[in-house]
Amino acid sequence: MRFYDDPVEISAEVWAELLTDSEVTRKDDLEVLKLIYESRNHEMHAKEIALKLNLSHHATLNSQIPRFSKRVIARTGVQPPTREDGSIRWWHVPFWGYDKRNGTGSWIMRPELVVACERVFGQDDSELVYPGEMTVQDSTVLFEGAVSKIVVNRYERDKKARTECIDHYGCRCAVCGFDFEKVYGPIGQNKIHVHHLIPLSEIRQEYKIDPVRDLRPVCPNCHLIIHSKREPFTIDEVKEMIGSGSDPAPHLPLSPLL
Ligand SMILES: [Zn+2]
Ligand SMILES: [Zn+2]
Repeated sequence: MRFYDDPVEISAEVWAELLTDSEVTRKDDLEVLKLIYESRNHEMHAKEIALKLNLSHHATLNSQIPRFSKRVIARTGVQPPTREDGSIRWWHVPFWGYDKRNGTGSWIMRPELVVACERVFGQDDSELVYPGEMTVQDSTVLFEGAVSKIVVNRYERDKKARTECIDHYGCRCAVCGFDFEKVYGPIGQNKIHVHHLIPLSEIRQEYKIDPVRDLRPVCPNCHLIIHSKREPFTIDEVKEMIGSGSDPAPHLPLSPLL
């Protein structure tokens, strides 16, 4: 059976905007995406999701996800992935996976969407208010007991962790050295992604982030590469790749493409 990983022209930045636009990403969608994002390798079966969300049947998801995808496509105007017969693989807009129409295949989040989720669910960005608005009451269906506390507290805690990480490593990409402020001037100040070296999916217990041990500032380009396989690449692996592409570009990188 073919594994579908066709590209969709939506960058991590655009996904982040879509995730925080409640007209595109409804609360139900956010819950599903958060669940998948936080699961191992950002991969989950519809049945597992239905179970965790107390949905009576996973068929609910098989109509919810296409509706979400349709709003994404309507908003962005990008070409959705299609079958030979011209019909659209709606599940394939946010996910990779096998095309099983009965919904028993697992959904694997696209790398760009993973990066967007890491920003929206995992850390501080003052423009993104959605995660901070998730309260225990809002998410009782999804999260129980300690887990919900972790999720709710994580946002606040990560703001501080982010600041400490940047204070230690500087506001430059730990992979390629890209510095937004140097390139864009004052508007680029404090613009960097913070990457969690330990995938959030592996954090189940209350756990204290050590910003120096566990986090690294990375630019959006390198961040996307880090998450472009299911087990993220290490910082060193991505460093190795730089310069090994067909374009030698000795002065790279000057412009983040996202
Ligand atoms: Zn970089
Ligand atoms: Zn990351």
